[in-house]
Amino acid sequence: MKSYVIWVLSLFLIAACSSSTDQTMTTGPITLVIHGGAGRIVKGELTPAKENAYRHQLINALEQGFKILEEGGESAQAVVAAIQIMEASPLFNAGKGSVRNRDGVIEMDASIMEGKTSLAGAVAGVRTIKSPITAAYKIMTKSPYVMLVAKGAQRFAAEHGIEIVPPTYFHAKSTDQSSPSSGLGTVGAVALDRYGNLAAGTSTGGTPKKHPGRVGDSAIIGAGTYADNRSCAISATGHGEFFIRQVVGHEISARMKYRKQSLARAAEDVIQETLKPIGGKGGVIGLDRAGNIAMVFNTEGMYRGYMRESEPPRVYFYQ
Ligand code: ASP
Repeated sequence: MKSYVIWVLSLFLIAACSSSTDQTMTTGPITLVIHGGAGRIVKGELTPAKENAYRHQLINALEQGFKILEEGGESAQAVVAAIQIMEASPLFNAGKGSVRNRDGVIEMDASIMEGKTSLAGAVAGVRTIKSPITAAYKIMTKSPYVMLVAKGAQRFAAEHGIEIVPPTYFHAKSTDQSSPSSGLGTVGAVALDRYGNLAAGTSTGGTPKKHPGRVGDSAIIGAGTYADNRSCAISATGHGEFFIRQVVGHEISARMKYRKQSLARAAEDVIQETLKPIGGKGGVIGLDRAGNIAMVFNTEGMYRGYMRESEPPRVYFYQ
């Protein structure tokens, strides 16, 4: 009789656990991590005014994205909100501040992925979309596709009510194309929402003076952007060709899943041991379902920051 009761009780427990869906399960504290590009960011080379401008925009992006998480929004929505702020700022190489290609034209890439559903959306080589991350999100949520490029992507965006802007919108004077740090400033975000779901997103103008048609890792799911609830959410920045060849986002996730590495260890190994020796400069931000954060780079600096419940936003530039 006693063993029968225990047996029934355990069946009940198993049923209760397996019926709790991802939507109701909270596995970690709501968290948002962002980056604004990695590269030659050296203490003393940024004027105090520039430092303040970056700090202000990064904090603004963190607060806007975090608000969505606090109000019960989904991680992908928070990622979009944070990236939209940085895309609208001329300080970053994404959206408004995008650098020009060899023909003097801008061509932007962006992508987003959800860790719960494995759904993803991406755009590449777009010239007229004000917020490429918004278009990537729409592709993920309102189409059966993962990636649309160039004119087709622009047409999709217009058909879905996404803001289209003239070329003059992008010609931000403050993007100094000749400075050593020009091209720096790809933006990205990773988030963990109340329901325990991860998401990652990235947006960029790509590399300065790139060949027209060149697409970087920021548009490639698995390379510049990746999210899987079983491991982590990753957004990368750096020399895109290396990040594509090493499939960086997926590689970090795979090391966590199959080698049982921690997020910190997996991110560190891929950035410092895999990429650095072959000349792949850049970094990643990462987040797991327990709320562990990674912000790893092999360059002089990376604009980055994070925000967690009942803590002020924290922002860093240098090593
Ligand atoms: N990863 C971007 C690209 O190669 C550039 C960057 O992050 O700085 O397009």
